[in-house]
Amino acid sequence: MSHRTSTLAPIKLGCIADDFTGATDLANNLVRSGMRCVQVVGVPTDRLMLERDYDAVVVALKTRTSPTQDAINDSLSALSWLQSLGAEQLYFKYCSTFDSTERGNIGPVTKALMQALNCPLTVVTPAFPDNARTIFKGHLFVGDVLLSDSPMRDHPLTPMRDSSLVRLMQSQFDGRVGLIDYTVVQQGAKAVESKLHSLKEEGFNAVVVDALSNTDLMSLGLAVKGMRLVTAGSGLAIGLAQNFDLNLSQNRAVLPKPAGFQAILSGSCSQMTQKQVAHFKAQGGACFALEPLKLVRSSTHLQQAVEWAKSNLAKSPRPILIYSTAAPEDVKSIQQQLTPQTAGEVLESAMGELAQALVEFGVSQLLVAGGETSGKCVQSLGLQQLQIGPQIDPGVPWCFAPLQSAGKVGQAGLHLALKSGNFGREDFFTYAWQILEESSL
Ligand code: ADP
Repeated sequence: MSHRTSTLAPIKLGCIADDFTGATDLANNLVRSGMRCVQVVGVPTDRLMLERDYDAVVVALKTRTSPTQDAINDSLSALSWLQSLGAEQLYFKYCSTFDSTERGNIGPVTKALMQALNCPLTVVTPAFPDNARTIFKGHLFVGDVLLSDSPMRDHPLTPMRDSSLVRLMQSQFDGRVGLIDYTVVQQGAKAVESKLHSLKEEGFNAVVVDALSNTDLMSLGLAVKGMRLVTAGSGLAIGLAQNFDLNLSQNRAVLPKPAGFQAILSGSCSQMTQKQVAHFKAQGGACFALEPLKLVRSSTHLQQAVEWAKSNLAKSPRPILIYSTAAPEDVKSIQQQLTPQTAGEVLESAMGELAQALVEFGVSQLLVAGGETSGKCVQSLGLQQLQIGPQIDPGVPWCFAPLQSAGKVGQAGLHLALKSGNFGREDFFTYAWQILEESSL
């Protein structure tokens, strides 16, 4: 069944992102590389037609930590929808820190997409040099340290204790995993292309590719021209536009002028988010700490948060912050009492309800910190489509959900920024509003 009107041109690139912050991160890089791009939330129903031509469409899923078979099914239905739009190449986007549970969904989803696309070989490269994620000899670095020495080792849901991407991928992928290291990558696109070809002949199916810089990603971009499926963080996106015959758009992504209350919901416990919360507090920002144990034991804690938010918004035009962000030792203690899954679910569900209550009260500029947290908030708000606006920091753009896609949103639309845990500068929670104000029409 066709999902679009015949007057629209086929898209070039169809993208499937395993979480919502990752989806906006990818869409942001595609827009910055000149592609016309829109993000849809979940797999659209027939009724949602794209209203104009796009070069790339990103489907945001919440499959990073879901049961593996659910992640596969959701990804395959996103694939069919993107194929119905005419996508020439597919892009499976995961986190630049390769976040996956012990079972790991990245491998099985990659395998399922490869089978559906009849694609014998794909690449694996979470590198995102603009955010200091680089790959050297198949090992993933976060800033100056290996992934396993970075704060990601204490992530509440996906602690990363190994830095070898070949080993991580091999442990969850049914197929042979190889490596193209920087000695080849630095020779440029032709060398990478020919190495990919020889690895395919040798029977490899997934190839980790080193990347230390954007130049490396541009070379890799050229080398994967015509590959049916690529898998990567958002970094590789900058190298793909050059492969398609596009009228690259030079337009800056401009969103409507913001209005209404401003609020921040932070369910991320990543180190950078902890610093951002501390900075916001130090600036005298209004904060409410959401406590997981109180949420479980008292039926009024969530309501208290809502009432607190309403009274603060009513008396001051400044943004408010509600957070469950906590240090690793506090998270560990909560998880021991509730289990990591229960703690995560209770908090995510509370954040979703808060997002709804805030928007109903008149918040129309919302900043959410945390990938899983963002997924839950966007789903609770019933948002369906996001336009990508100006970049706040690498990997985090402002987005806009217009009225017709905004489900339960009562206003003209919602300005939204979804921040992945470790992204953004320390003053992100105060700085982000300035970017929106300065760059909207
Ligand atoms: P990030 O982008 O930093 O990975 P996520 O939102 O993806 O952030 O993941 C953080 C997870 O930790 C969520 O499931 C969230 O509900 C959970 N969480 C948040 N605060 C706490 C806390 N204080 N104790 C236990 N778990 C928490």
